[in-house]
Amino acid sequence: TNTLRGSALVKTYPGAEATPALDGVDLTVTSGESVAIMGPSGSGKTTLLHVLAGVLAPTSGQVVWRGRDLAAMGDAGRTRLRRTDFGFVFQSGHLLPELPAVENAALPLMLSGVSRREATRRAEALLAPLGLSGLSARRPGELSGGQAQRVAIARALVCEPGVVFADEPTGALDQGTSAEVLEQLVTRCRAVGASLVVVTHDENVASWCERTVRLRDGRIVSDARTTR
Ligand code: ADP
Ligand code: ADP
Repeated sequence: TNTLRGSALVKTYPGAEATPALDGVDLTVTSGESVAIMGPSGSGKTTLLHVLAGVLAPTSGQVVWRGRDLAAMGDAGRTRLRRTDFGFVFQSGHLLPELPAVENAALPLMLSGVSRREATRRAEALLAPLGLSGLSARRPGELSGGQAQRVAIARALVCEPGVVFADEPTGALDQGTSAEVLEQLVTRCRAVGASLVVVTHDENVASWCERTVRLRDGRIVSDARTTR
């Protein structure tokens, strides 16, 4: 099943061995679950996201995805995993300015060998529920910040990932737009059955996610289900 399990995760950066960025974190994300990672600046949120996503190797500890240890996959295996099983949303869209929205959303599929026609068809199907049907021919420069982040959400989902990782996905947006985009992110992930791990400073995120994990000094200080 689509379980992502981080166990006894420790990460120290060179020159900062005395203060681990992660200091013994255990975190299991079950299939389809949405988890907000919160905590003060420097508490290890981004480090945790990168370790869980196989972008950064832990100093010790283990990350297991669908029963497979990421460390045993090798670089090529982890790269393939990040293209096929994982989706990513960054603070600012990282969209390619010369491509229309629909091709930006379709790009991961085209890179994995799906024909342009089929890839854009699937991208359009993701853009529609995000309210972007009429805007798919626009280039990123012709979209608002919130619209561009919605294209980034479609792109993160286009390969049908098991987990979407989002690092401050609304950090560059104003509060109202931010709330709408977050709602869309959580709702779309849920609709396609993808788990979501989202790093944020925004307390509103917690109300959209099923679970909130709070870090301080590289440790989990609380892990709570959202009460509605
Ligand atoms: P957060 O995302 O909660 O702000 P980070 O995971 O970015 O926290 O950082 C956790 C700690 O690790 C901080 O003390 C930060 O300074 C340190 N750190 C992060 N990235 C690096 C790096 N590449 N090299 C050295 N130290 C780093
Ligand atoms: P190989 O590629 O020979 O299988 P490893 O997978 O053990 O060797 O490690 C290759 C590189 O990937 C090393 O630099 C290692 O630190 C790093 N690495 C190991 N585990 C992970 C992980 N969970 N996520 C990201 N990088 C990792």
